[in-house]
Amino acid sequence: MREFGYERAADVPGAVALLNADPEARFLGGGTNLVDLMKTGVERPAHLVDVRELPLDTIESVDGGLRFGATVTNSDLAAHLDVRRQYPALAQAVLAGASGQLRNMATVGGNLLQRTRCGYFADVSQPCNKRSPGSGCPAIEGEHHNHAILGASSHCVATNPSDMAVALAAFDAVVTYETVDGPGELALDDFYLPVGDTPHRETALPPGALITGVRLPASPVAALSRYRKVRERASFAFAVGSVAAALDVRDGVVHDVRLAFGAVASRPWRARTAEGALTGGPATAEAFAEAADAELAAAAPLADNAYKLPLVRNLVVAVLTELAEEAAR
Ligand SMILES: Cc1cc2nc3c(=O)[nH]c(=O)nc-3n(C[C@H](O)[C@H](O)[C@H](O)COP(=O)(O)OP(=O)(O)OC[C@H]3O[C@@H](n4cnc5c(N)ncnc54)[C@H](O)[C@@H]3O)c2cc1C
Ligand code: SF4
Repeated sequence: MREFGYERAADVPGAVALLNADPEARFLGGGTNLVDLMKTGVERPAHLVDVRELPLDTIESVDGGLRFGATVTNSDLAAHLDVRRQYPALAQAVLAGASGQLRNMATVGGNLLQRTRCGYFADVSQPCNKRSPGSGCPAIEGEHHNHAILGASSHCVATNPSDMAVALAAFDAVVTYETVDGPGELALDDFYLPVGDTPHRETALPPGALITGVRLPASPVAALSRYRKVRERASFAFAVGSVAAALDVRDGVVHDVRLAFGAVASRPWRARTAEGALTGGPATAEAFAEAADAELAAAAPLADNAYKLPLVRNLVVAVLTELAEEAAR
């Protein structure tokens, strides 16, 4: 591992100033992703600016929604009563990730910016357009059983591994940040960039920006919501497919619905085509399946990951059916 400097920032402007003083500096959250990547040589920062002591660790109610800071741990976010009551799918998504020990360390900001789990990306002896632009994408012809089926390009077919971000996408989250030029914010829809021919550019955050937190607007539909994750073992594993869903059914008709998919694209996939197909229609398994098919019509699976199509379709039908039954009780 490259030798690096370490500093602990005391306040937000100080953290931003420290980072921007050195182009090779990185923010350090819980370190559960960054330090692993430093050990393998994928990341080689000259300086780490530790943000964990910043006063960004609160969860507050705002205008019927919630605001939580970038250094809130995954454990604290999942355990918070308002999160569990108002956005149960978010608490479930966070709890479905990693392990108890990791969630105690991992932060909101770090979770949003964790890197892909593509094996070629993590192996510096291999080419990889995301790690080394222009070097190629061996996953397309190689090992890709857990890679993207939606929104990928011939330059990269990696998926985003975050469970939390899938629920945040379903509930129209807004990411707030601070730069040397002042604060800014990005809707989660705009936060992750399309892959295109620049897979190394993953987010629309300005260079040197510190994520300060996430805002969730009031969303009554989110109170009846669920996150369902399929993985290769029962715990401590990344998703091979996941769905965050919320449903408001009145007299058997879908009044409001939210749907987002995980582990199918380079970013959390908000299923707006499916939402549009469902709204105003019957809350039946047939309608749920048709809506999933409409969303997945844009999919372009690779040789070894077409299994994700029926997997996601079945998840959509199962989760929405459960929510419709709960709404009827
Ligand atoms: C074995 C294992 C299994 C896991 N399983 C899952 C899983 O199933 N689902 C899941 O969602 N996650 C999973 N994780 C990922 C884990 O949740 C992430 O490692 C974690 O969320 C990253 O958070 P962190 O605070 O440790 O980030 P760090 O490792 O500290 O940082 C990650 C990146 O974010 C940047 N960063 C951190 N904070 C900020 C900030 N405030 N502003 C700007 N940049 C910042 C860092 O510079 C770095 O680039 C797993 C991790 C491991 C090691
Ligand atoms: S899928 Fe993306 S991350 Fe994986 S090898 Fe290809 S370019 Fe690299």
